[in-house]
Amino acid sequence: MPIDATQPYDDGNIFARILRGELPAKRVYEDDFALAFHDINPQAPTHILVIPKGAYVSWDDFSARAGDAEIAGFVRAVGQVARAAGLVEPGYRLLANTGLDSHQEVPHLHVHIFAGRPLGPMLA
Ligand code: IMP
Repeated sequence: MPIDATQPYDDGNIFARILRGELPAKRVYEDDFALAFHDINPQAPTHILVIPKGAYVSWDDFSARAGDAEIAGFVRAVGQVARAAGLVEPGYRLLANTGLDSHQEVPHLHVHIFAGRPLGPMLA
């Protein structure tokens, strides 16, 4: 079910539980600001999720409340994950669903990295 991006943070959400090590994930990267792991239901040959370690519901919440160091650290981590996976060429796509119309389902900010095939034009 899509979630309202303005809801309060729920620390029982599935990605919070992965962060705490309570649920398994195919982890590919971790630093002080971010954790990355493979999506359980991949939509491309490479489909990785990058999440901040802080408790943020959505891109909106993160961009409004996170400190500059957290924002910089998270953005760098997303780039590092893609570089380490060898995705810079032929390329990759980033996506961060936010709120009901986007069909965001997990209420902890996550950036999708899609790669591994021509991804076609942007969705409208
Ligand atoms: P959203 O629609 O942008 O919120 O995307 C949520 C993503 O999380 C979907 O692509 C799901 O396949 C993925 N997902 C849900 N549960 C898990 C999990 O336990 N491990 C890895 N990915 C998950």
